[in-house]
Amino acid sequence: MLRDVRFLNMGWCLIDRSQLVTGHPVGDVVRIPIWAYLLRGDDALLLVDSGMPAGCIGNERYFGEMEPGDLIMPQMQAEDMVDRVLARQGVRLEDIDEVIFTHAHFDHAGGSGLFHGTRILAHPDELEALRAEPELPEWIDLGLRYETVQDGLEPIPGVKLIHTPGHTPGHMSLLLRPKGVRPILLTVDAVYTRHNWEADILGAMTDADLGQASVARLRAIAAAEDAAVFFGHDPDQAKEPFWQAFTR
Ligand SMILES: [Zn+2]
Repeated sequence: MLRDVRFLNMGWCLIDRSQLVTGHPVGDVVRIPIWAYLLRGDDALLLVDSGMPAGCIGNERYFGEMEPGDLIMPQMQAEDMVDRVLARQGVRLEDIDEVIFTHAHFDHAGGSGLFHGTRILAHPDELEALRAEPELPEWIDLGLRYETVQDGLEPIPGVKLIHTPGHTPGHMSLLLRPKGVRPILLTVDAVYTRHNWEADILGAMTDADLGQASVARLRAIAAAEDAAVFFGHDPDQAKEPFWQAFTR
């Protein structure tokens, strides 16, 4: 049973809105939150994603010089590193039984290198894409204890992994059924914001057709489960009353 769900703010990022909303004019910069999620089962503690890498701390220029349309500037403090964030929840790195690796991007997998001996659940398509890269980003260590998982796997009762390719090949979203609360659908980066969902406009996708199919699947799941949908990087959603119980 899934007994508790915590949304962990792992810092922020400035990004050009054209990357969130395909076709939006360049030059409109928006500040988006970075999330990880702590899931407490009966006898297991799961962490979904691990925030940004230490190299982003105090370093808005982590990605160097950028064209305006490509602008991504991390806004990360030392206290946003995954070990510090977990410590504020009373959790040590070694208390985490499994890390769910939704995808390999810097704002989701950036702290994964701290989880040396921990099982890291990843979709095989994500690992395969990484192995094909000529040069891995510094936050990716393929020597970690990865275990590949398929669509539909429930690592613990009440937590279901949903393969939602498009943003990246092995991207995963999650359906949560916490005890005593409405089901929650975490889209992660399959859908960045409520605007993307409501206006049916995709954000950054490596494969737009796959991305559309994944969103269609998430819509069907949200309807069938009557799930509350939490988007990967919505600037304002966490302020909504329903979500405040999870973000405190
Ligand atoms: Zn992201």
